[in-house]
Amino acid sequence: MRKKIIAGNWKMNLNPEEAMCILERSKMFPAESLPNTEIMFAVPALYAMMAENSLRETPHSVLVQDVSFQDDGAFTGEISVNMVKASGLQGALVAHSERREYHNENNISAGKKIKKLLDVDLVAVYCIGEKLESRKNKEEKQIVKTQLTEALSGFEVRNFDRLVIAYEPVWAIGTGEVATVEQISEMHHFIREELSKLFGAENAEKIRILYGGSMKPENALEIIQIQDVDGGLIGGASLKFDDFKSIILSSI
Ligand code: PEP
Repeated sequence: MRKKIIAGNWKMNLNPEEAMCILERSKMFPAESLPNTEIMFAVPALYAMMAENSLRETPHSVLVQDVSFQDDGAFTGEISVNMVKASGLQGALVAHSERREYHNENNISAGKKIKKLLDVDLVAVYCIGEKLESRKNKEEKQIVKTQLTEALSGFEVRNFDRLVIAYEPVWAIGTGEVATVEQISEMHHFIREELSKLFGAENAEKIRILYGGSMKPENALEIIQIQDVDGGLIGGASLKFDDFKSIILSSI
């Protein structure tokens, strides 16, 4: 059975005290309280070591929000996969829609990052999803299929537990608008089918597919119960621990 993942994406939010408060409060969930759920925090890079120190004795994971596909060298402002690994972190988000929109991330660069992360046994949370215009033109499946195939074709995955897909329709991120149960169900099923074509059915069954897009305490239970939804990537509602806690509790 696939363990659920509830992952907070803090983006460029929270001061150190607020961040620390959320991390400390997350310790109310020891391993035995969540046998079927993993908690992850995708934190600003500057807070990653603080988060790692705080959560070292817990089962919760710390991710960075992006990583370079270069090994080392003159890449000012970047963080390498080896730095993430050596710092004791568990992985990275890849190709969040805001990275695609503002930082020229594309499916090919995303694929290189995912390969690097998986090669050193880190978690890669690969974010995909269509924009509103594509949804209106009924092109959402084609977009998602291309995002999957361009990034994930052509390399071997050793550990499918560490490859995580986050389906985040761009029109639902930070907008308060949530995809309907039917839309989520249809797309997650489609993604599993595409993963099956890429990696075979048995391996595709091991990959967690998260939903992201205005997930909050009021809708989390309904979304998490949808077949082929293995948890959530949560932006806004991960910034208030009480909201994040309610979403975690919905996954149990
Ligand atoms: C996100 O940034 O990945 C996200 C899903 O944000 P929000 O929950 O605020 O829509």
